Amino acid sequence: MKLAICPGSFDPITKGHLDIITRASKLFDKVIVIVVPNYEKKPFFSMEERINFISRSTAHLPNIETDVYNGLLANCAKEKNACAIIRGLRAVSDFEYEFQMALTNKKLNPDTETIFLTTSAENMYLSSSVVKQIAAFGGDITDFIPEPVIEDVKNRLCKKRRG
Ligand code: ADP
Repeated sequence: MKLAICPGSFDPITKGHLDIITRASKLFDKVIVIVVPNYEKKPFFSMEERINFISRSTAHLPNIETDVYNGLLANCAKEKNACAIIRGLRAVSDFEYEFQMALTNKKLNPDTETIFLTTSAENMYLSSSVVKQIAAFGGDITDFIPEPVIEDVKNRLCKKRRG
């Protein structure tokens, strides 16, 4: 069975993430979306909320699971028996960091390949940070968030705005 992991912060999941997960689900027998703590970014949503939003957004895809991993991705891939780590690439600005991470993970775990899926044109400028910024200024984020969780994400971000 060909299994891949799809790691990220998912703070919160966007249509850009969902597009990458959906496309990965067609390439592998099983894809595990892994929420990893990113020590450079302070998350807005709790781990439980992020997992919940991912699970509900991917409920229509039978070969997707969601999990949390607090450690090295290279070890996560080994433990899950994953042959690939899936990452999305948007602009050139993503490239240097992703390249460094891919090479490091290859060094730590030579059995796992990092596979990059290029963003779909409509998601090129979409990120969790952009969604949070738009919401912070009262903008409409409907087009950016997977349909099953739009209301919950909006409510949480609006509650913060109202203070
Ligand atoms: P991280 O903090 O690990 O970068 P993110 O949640 O920001 O976590 O992103 C997780 C993965 O999803 C990354 O590979 C990122 O490049 C990809 N991704 C995020 N937004 C998009 C998008 N709009 N189009 C394609 N890939 C995306």
